[in-house]
Amino acid sequence: MKKVIIIRYSEIYLKGKNRGFFERAFETNLRRAVKDLNCELIKQSGRYLVQDFQEEETDEIVERLKKVFGLHTMSVAYETNSDMDSIFEVAKTLCHENGTFKVESHRGDKKYPLTSVEISRELGARLLSWAKGALKVDVHMPSFTIRVDIRENGHALVFGDYIEGANGMPVGTAGKGVLLLSGGIDSPVAGYMMAKRGMTIDCLHFHSYPYTNMQAKEKVVDLAKILSQYTCGTTLYTVSVTHIQEAIHEKCKPELMITLLRRFMYRIAERHALRIGGQCLITGESLGQVASQTIEGMTSSNSVVEQLPVLRPLVSFDKNEIIDRSVKMGAYETSILPFEDCCTVFLPDFPAIRPKLCDILREEEKLDVEGLIAEAFTSVEKIKI
Ligand code: ATP
Ligand code: MG
Repeated sequence: MKKVIIIRYSEIYLKGKNRGFFERAFETNLRRAVKDLNCELIKQSGRYLVQDFQEEETDEIVERLKKVFGLHTMSVAYETNSDMDSIFEVAKTLCHENGTFKVESHRGDKKYPLTSVEISRELGARLLSWAKGALKVDVHMPSFTIRVDIRENGHALVFGDYIEGANGMPVGTAGKGVLLLSGGIDSPVAGYMMAKRGMTIDCLHFHSYPYTNMQAKEKVVDLAKILSQYTCGTTLYTVSVTHIQEAIHEKCKPELMITLLRRFMYRIAERHALRIGGQCLITGESLGQVASQTIEGMTSSNSVVEQLPVLRPLVSFDKNEIIDRSVKMGAYETSILPFEDCCTVFLPDFPAIRPKLCDILREEEKLDVEGLIAEAFTSVEKIKI
C-alpha cells in the first residue's frame, strides 16, 4: 500500500477552449510549490496525483499545496490492489474509533465485478461487523466518510475526508498587478485576494529612510516573502519618498500631507507599473477605514492615475474580516510588528477627511511634482523574493 495525494481543481473555471492554458499554469505552480521535496507529480484524467514521497513529508506537502490557488480539494489516499480484501484492510486504518460513517465509491474501471453501489454496501458491511457496534452507518450526516476509487490498472485509491484548498484561479492566468505594499495588515491581504483570482503580483513599497528605519524595510521584505508563498514568487521594489515628504512638509498645508503624498505614490506606482509590464495597481484600502480612505480620498488619488485601473479588493471588507484573512495567510504576526511606515512620518494632527480637488491642486502647484518624481525613481531598489 502506497501513499499518494489526490489533487482536484475547480472544474467550473477550467472549461472551454482555455482549459489547457489554466491547467498548464496550475501544473507549473504545483510543481514549483513542492520542487525541493522529493516527490513526483502526475496528471490523471482531470486531477493530479503526488506520489513517491517520504511518508514524513506528507504534512509539509499538504501545507504547501494548500497555498496553491486553483486547488479545490485534496485527499491523502492509499493506493492498494482493487480486490475487496485489500480495500478493507486500508479502510480499517481510516476509520475513527466510534461515530457514524458512510462509504462512497467510484468505479473508474467499468469491468470491475461490483458496481459502485455494491462496493459501498460490501465495504460498509465489513466495516460494521469489524467495528463490533462502535460504528454506525449514516448516509446523510456521517462523522466521517471512507471513499473508494477503483482504477483501471487493478489498483484502488482509498481515502477519507477532503482537505479544502485555497480555491480561486491559478496564479499566472490573469495578468500582472503592482501591489502597493506597506508594512500594515491590509495590503498583504489585498495582494492575496488578487493572486487568488490568478493575478501575478509584483510589490512596490515606499519608505522614508532615514525617518523610517531598516527594520521597517526588513518587515516589508518579510511580508513580501509570506505573500510570495501564494503568488509563486514576487519581486519587491522599494522607492524613497523622503524628499517628497520633506517638500510637502515644508511648503504645503499639513492637513493635506497624506492626500498629497498618496497622489505622489499613485503617480510613481503607475509609471513604475508601466515600466515593468504591470496592468493595474492594487491597494489595501477599505472604504471609510481611515480619513484618507473616504470616497473623496480615493477619488483624489485615482485622479492622478491616467492609464491603469486601481483595484481595491478590500474596499468592502471590515477590519475584522481583513484580520481574519491576514491570520489565515500567516501575515498577521509580522504585520503588527511596531515599525513606522512612511505615512506616519510628518503625520498631521487633523488630516483632511474630504479633501477638495481645487485645494489639492493649489497645494501641488507649490511643488516641483515632475522633478520630485524623477528624483524618487533614482532610488528604486529591486529585491527578488
Ligand atoms: P495597510 O494596512 O495596508 O498599511 P492602512 O490601513 O494602514 O493599510 P493606509 O496607510 O491609508 O492604510 O494605506 C492604504 C493603502 O495604501 C495600503 O493598503 C497600501 O496599499 C498603500 N500604502 C500605504 N503606505 C504605503 C507604503 N509605504 N508603500 C506602499 N504602499 C503603501
Ligand atoms: Mg498603512
